[in-house]
Amino acid sequence: MTNTASPLPPAAAVALANALQRLARADRLLLALDFDGTLAPFVDVPRGARALPEAKAALDRLEHLPDTWVAYVSGRPLSSLEIVTEADDDALLIGSHGVEIRFGRDGVSVDLTEEERDRLARLGEALQQIVDDIPSTKLETKPVGFGVHYRLVSAERGPEVVARAREAAAAISDDLTIRDGKDIIEFSVREAHKGDAVERLREYTKATAVLFAGDDVTDEDGFRVMDPSRGDVGIKVGRGETLAQYRVADERAVATLLTLLAEAREAHVKPSTA
Ligand SMILES: [Mg+2]
Repeated sequence: MTNTASPLPPAAAVALANALQRLARADRLLLALDFDGTLAPFVDVPRGARALPEAKAALDRLEHLPDTWVAYVSGRPLSSLEIVTEADDDALLIGSHGVEIRFGRDGVSVDLTEEERDRLARLGEALQQIVDDIPSTKLETKPVGFGVHYRLVSAERGPEVVARAREAAAAISDDLTIRDGKDIIEFSVREAHKGDAVERLREYTKATAVLFAGDDVTDEDGFRVMDPSRGDVGIKVGRGETLAQYRVADERAVATLLTLLAEAREAHVKPSTA
C-alpha cells in the first residue's frame, strides 16, 4: 500500500527538516507516536508487528536523553501495545485510542463508573448473541468496549453484521462511541480520542513542544491539538486528507526522520555536560 505513496517534494522535505531542527532545541520534548502504520509496517498477525529497527534504534537514543520523552499512542488495547512496543517499565503508553493509560511506574488507569460498567456488560451480552447467530464472526473484548469482527463472513453478509450490531448497541445506549473499521465495528462506553491522549501526555511530561505522527483517520484528533506557535509538529504518514502540517510517505520515512531528530537532539543536549 505504502509503495504507491509519492516521495516528499523537495520544498516540503526542507520545511520538515527545519521543523525537526527547531524541535530538537525544545526545552522539554515529547514524541507521541502512533504505532501501526507509523513505526511498524502492517502484518497479518497483529501481535507480530514491530517497529522498524531503524525507528526503534532512534527512539531508544531519544528516550535516554534528558528532558525527552517517547510515548506510544495507539488504538490497540494496552496489553497488546506493551508487547509490540517491547516497552520497558518507564514507558509511556496509551492504548484503546486514549482510554487506557500507563505512565511508566505511575501505573495503569481505566476509570469506569458503575454505570459505564453496567452498560459494558449489557453491550457484551447483546453483541455476543449476534456473533453466536452469524457464523465466522468474532467478538473481541476490549477494555471499555467490544469489536465485532467479520473479515471471514461472505462479502454480502458484512453489511448485515454491521447493521445488526449497530441496532443491538443502540438498544443499550445512544451514547456509545462507534468506530467503523476495516472488517470490524467497535463500540465503546467511554469516549476518548488521541487528542485527549496527547494532551494528557503533554501535561504529564510538561513538554514545551510535541511531535505527533500517525497514519490513520483516528490520528487526526492528535493533529488537531498540535500548536505550531509552541513548536509542535504534526506528521501524517501516507495518503489521505489531514490536518497535519507535514506529511511523509511511509514507516521508513518516519524512521529516517526519527534518526535525524535523535542526532539533532543529542547535539543540542550533550554540550550542556561541559
Ligand atoms: Mg496507525
